[in-house]
Amino acid sequence: MNYKLTKADDHWFRENINCQYACPVNTPAMNYIERITSGDFDASLRLNFMANLFPHILGRVCTHPCETACRRGVIDKPIAICSLKRSAGDFALKKSPAKPVHIEKTGYRVAIIGSGPSGLAAAHDLAMKGHTVVIYEALPVAGGMLSVGIPPYRLPRAQIEAAINGIAELGAEIRLNSPIDTPDAFDTLLREYNAVYIATGAHKSQILEIPGEDLKGVMHGVTFMKETNLEMLKAVPEKVAVVGGGFTAIDCARSSLRLGAKEVSIVYRRTLEEMPAGEMEVSMAEEEGIKMHYLTSPVKIIGGLDCKVTHLECIKNKLGEPDEKGRRRPVPVQGSNFTIPVDMVIAAIGQSPDLGFFSDKIGIEINHWGMPVIDPKNFMTTRKGVFAGGDCITGPRNVIEVVADGRKAARSIHTFLTGEERKGYSFYYKDQSPSDRMPNYESAPRQKQDAISMDDRRSLNAEVELGLSKENAFKEAGRCLLCHYNIFIDETCILCGGCIDVCPYDCISMVSRDNVDVANDSPDKNTVAGDWDAVMVIDEEKCIRCGLCVKRCPVNAITMKRFAYAEE
Ligand SMILES: Cc1cc2nc3c(=O)[nH]c(=O)nc-3n(C[C@H](O)[C@H](O)[C@H](O)COP(=O)(O)OP(=O)(O)OC[C@H]3O[C@@H](n4cnc5c(N)ncnc54)[C@H](O)[C@@H]3O)c2cc1C
Repeated sequence: MNYKLTKADDHWFRENINCQYACPVNTPAMNYIERITSGDFDASLRLNFMANLFPHILGRVCTHPCETACRRGVIDKPIAICSLKRSAGDFALKKSPAKPVHIEKTGYRVAIIGSGPSGLAAAHDLAMKGHTVVIYEALPVAGGMLSVGIPPYRLPRAQIEAAINGIAELGAEIRLNSPIDTPDAFDTLLREYNAVYIATGAHKSQILEIPGEDLKGVMHGVTFMKETNLEMLKAVPEKVAVVGGGFTAIDCARSSLRLGAKEVSIVYRRTLEEMPAGEMEVSMAEEEGIKMHYLTSPVKIIGGLDCKVTHLECIKNKLGEPDEKGRRRPVPVQGSNFTIPVDMVIAAIGQSPDLGFFSDKIGIEINHWGMPVIDPKNFMTTRKGVFAGGDCITGPRNVIEVVADGRKAARSIHTFLTGEERKGYSFYYKDQSPSDRMPNYESAPRQKQDAISMDDRRSLNAEVELGLSKENAFKEAGRCLLCHYNIFIDETCILCGGCIDVCPYDCISMVSRDNVDVANDSPDKNTVAGDWDAVMVIDEEKCIRCGLCVKRCPVNAITMKRFAYAEE
């Protein structure tokens, strides 16, 4: 194999920490997991607050792209990073972040339309910078889909209230029942504020476009969840079929069971592999008795004489060629139609934004899908001073991504108002002694959260997942491979090979100069010493940072350093 010289600069180290790099807000998962290992849950929670603002919420519902990226996943299963975030919150003594003693006011006024996670994140950061922030919220509750989408058995309301109160305590005003739903109302905001952030989410349901959609007993997913969460809908009939494969579909199905349904099924046109809802959500739904119909599409909703739904007619699919997003298209299998007896059909196949308050005159370009066009560098729309982010610029996404939008938009708004540029990120390297790791951490299995019994799952308000026990949180944190620790071998190495002998994962090898590409265009051509015949190389992907090589080296040529970075 030929090796190429690469400059190991801050970019290189940053990209090596897969979990943090994959997080849209760069949460330093490895650092907060380390704090858990040392029993400092308060510090662990504090690191989370700094990065993602809402750890008590995200520790329950985050889509955790960090886990998908986690290097431990290659060995067995990724670290349960999301559950550990929750553990930080569960076991910390200080549940909320320290409030600043004094924030100097700037005199600038910013209006935010929508109090979902994106609007709240932007409000937090803008209020911290001293701007006067007013959030306009159409509904009688704040929180957006956190409050009216995600059900309380997955996200207890106390956690949302605490997050909203924290932002209100920073001085942001939240005006409930205050829709900005006409061009005139939007015009008023443009006159009264120095900047506007539009974070209205995606609340318009996509329709099935099949016969029978107007029958009694047919509802759309977000409406169903909104009415359930606002306690307007208190019961459903016996047999419910939900169409769709995302979070909304699963939540509609599981909520239906809690609202009294006896038979609930989910109809999804592709397979579990392509399903946008997480594997975990699907397994919980199945555990609760929900029947999954994969590779199935609805073709017709059938009703009785009283115009009430009686059956859902479906057709089976097979997977065909990939579509423009790379997912294989469902292709109907002719003659495979069948019916499911139902009293209610919930269509949860997608949502789009509703920006009825825009007029042609305001100078904001709208794309083909009815969403505002933004400059991805700064989240500004085509009208100066008007910014947009969250689900309303893309369609339905997830909490962590829209929090990232809100934070990035807030930085841009601050720059727009004050001219102050954002600094980027700061980083450091520090010497690190090979730590005493948990015995057998490399073979420890992933720990699971406890959950309430099936009998206790009849209430919408009974939280199903109970978090990791403290003991299991320690075990899980101990599994982390500490990708932010790096092994360095300096030029005093005598090539004795002792490190190779002790390495349990065979990730150190001696490489002859002939196999190293030290071409003139090498980024480090000026710093590579000329008089060497061989070098030791370490495979960072395989290294489990056990530190045995550091301990074994007879000439102390091997050191371990930790690297860390944070958004400024
Ligand atoms: C049922 C369901 C379950 C979900 N589960 C998860 C999950 O487990 N994990 C996850 O990461 N994501 C989940 N999501 C997705 C996540 O909730 C959304 O991606 C996120 O809330 C979007 O945030 P946002 O701030 O962009 O918009 P929203 O949360 O939709 O908030 C927008 C707010 O703007 C208000 N608004 C709209 N128009 C106006 C107007 N004209 N004037 C004033 N106010 C207005 C709305 O009332 C709303 O409060 C789920 C979504 C749903 C529907």
